[in-house]
Amino acid sequence: MALTLEQLNAASLPDAVALLDGVYEHSPWIAEAALAQRPFRSLAHLKHAMVRVLAQAGVDKQLALIRAHPELAGRAAVSQQLTAESTNEQSRAGLTDCSPEEFARIQQLNAEYNARFGFPFILAVRGPRGLGLPRSEIIDTFARRLGNPPQFEREEALRNIHRIAEIRLNDKFGYQPTLGNDVWDWHERLARHSDPGYAEQGQLTVTYLTDAHRACAQHISHWMRESGFDEVEIDAVGNVVGRYRPAAGDGKYLMTGSHYDTVRNGGKYDGRLGIFVPMAAVRELHRQGRRLPFGIEVVAFSEEEGQRYKATFLGSGALTGHFDTAWLEQRDADGITMRQAMQHAGLCVQDIPKLKRDPARYLGFVEVHIEQGPVLAELDLPLGVVTSINGCARYVCEMTGMASHAGTTPMDRRRDAALGVAELALYMEQRALQDSGCVATMGMLAVPSGSINVVPGRCAFSMDMRAPTDAQRDALVADVLARLRAIAQRRGLQYTAELAMQASAAPSDPVWQRRWESAVQAVGAPLYRLPSGAGHDAMKLHELMPQAMLFVRGLHSGISHNPLESTTSDDMQLAVDAFSHLLGQLAAEMA
Ligand SMILES: [Zn+2]
Repeated sequence: MALTLEQLNAASLPDAVALLDGVYEHSPWIAEAALAQRPFRSLAHLKHAMVRVLAQAGVDKQLALIRAHPELAGRAAVSQQLTAESTNEQSRAGLTDCSPEEFARIQQLNAEYNARFGFPFILAVRGPRGLGLPRSEIIDTFARRLGNPPQFEREEALRNIHRIAEIRLNDKFGYQPTLGNDVWDWHERLARHSDPGYAEQGQLTVTYLTDAHRACAQHISHWMRESGFDEVEIDAVGNVVGRYRPAAGDGKYLMTGSHYDTVRNGGKYDGRLGIFVPMAAVRELHRQGRRLPFGIEVVAFSEEEGQRYKATFLGSGALTGHFDTAWLEQRDADGITMRQAMQHAGLCVQDIPKLKRDPARYLGFVEVHIEQGPVLAELDLPLGVVTSINGCARYVCEMTGMASHAGTTPMDRRRDAALGVAELALYMEQRALQDSGCVATMGMLAVPSGSINVVPGRCAFSMDMRAPTDAQRDALVADVLARLRAIAQRRGLQYTAELAMQASAAPSDPVWQRRWESAVQAVGAPLYRLPSGAGHDAMKLHELMPQAMLFVRGLHSGISHNPLESTTSDDMQLAVDAFSHLLGQLAAEMA
């Protein structure tokens, strides 16, 4: 018989501790402390209560917990001394039938890992979908994590322990993140399509209007129809648009969605999560035969990443009336113009202006996106509410000094262009740190035709500065430019600084942000707010209607634009639950 939250909430403390036995390896004290938080309103609430206990327990207790775990496919596994839970997990991942070579490799990694960190390697081997990771992936992860700094790796071990606990709890409660699993599976199936040159290497690359891109559009439109959307179309720029009609014919629409193109060798979830989460929520409405006072328009945007052509946000830009027809003459690396690619795909270029949406027909725009950063993962939070999409300013610059002999020019007579830039780079770091949410990056820094024995006479560099509001961005830029001027003056250098790009911040609409906040709390996850450092389709729609975003935690410190990008089907389920809650709440407000 599966355990229920009601049972757990009602049980005496010793009974409740016994009910949670084995969730954290040989460590019942975690459950015991967390149970003080009863009653739990959801499984997510219980999971997070235990996460908090461990976070506050201090390093010694954390290390003791890590050391309570068995080695992966280690001696204990061979001599059958594992706990029942560990045996189940290791055998599901196929670790009990390693080849002799794999076994030897894992033993070698175990030894190296233990020597480096002083605790056993811990990996949630049932993986983000709960089905068990392939052995090759386990070995690759093991080898990769050996290179982590010790403190980071200790935290990564704890994150894996929490994931192991999450799956053990799901088992105890007979809980399956069914919708999250479907969302996960849609991502897997869509990721089978990749552009030539990448597909062969098992890499995911889907750029605008390639065969793989058009195959993705076909799949998405097919799944939308299957999910019960009333109308599904591929529009003039390749967006897949699904509409679920309102209860009454004249109801307004809530727009949501994200992009299905990817960067080169990208992750499976960037963009696509924001298509599949609402798709799962609409499918539930359809299954229940429910109509809301408003319609739902899910848009799978055809292009956001600017990979094949220089233009970005083609898909969402067309909806806001910002599709620039001059883009049609841009050529890709093979000389194919965007117009040719669109004609080849059967898109009607002349219909693009008709795609512009009338804001009067919409309630607003919401977007679910994988975080693409480490914040939620570090805090062990599944969801985060976005406060603003950061505004951005980019400069392309050059510093000029005097190239001179590295041996004969005394230190106090130099006009070293690179040192001036280095000083500025350190200032940018310090200045951005002073204002929370701000980031500043010198991504390019080069001494053109420099030599080992020459004091740098020139230094080319870039600056990328972002902030949650335009005022913060402008203050950051002003301070950095003032410092640049001062450094150049003091060091006898000249410089140029050319503004290459400037984008306004897109603060979340307060009312929509609050709807996300109550949705997150309703599913039992703690409320956490954060700005978005990356640009998203929502910042285009921002020009037309109120918008707010929800972030979902990424695994591996939230790495993105990388094949390691990942999230769990449990977190996906929470995102679907939060999205459904947002729909229900909006319906209630309108009733
Ligand atoms: Zn994205």
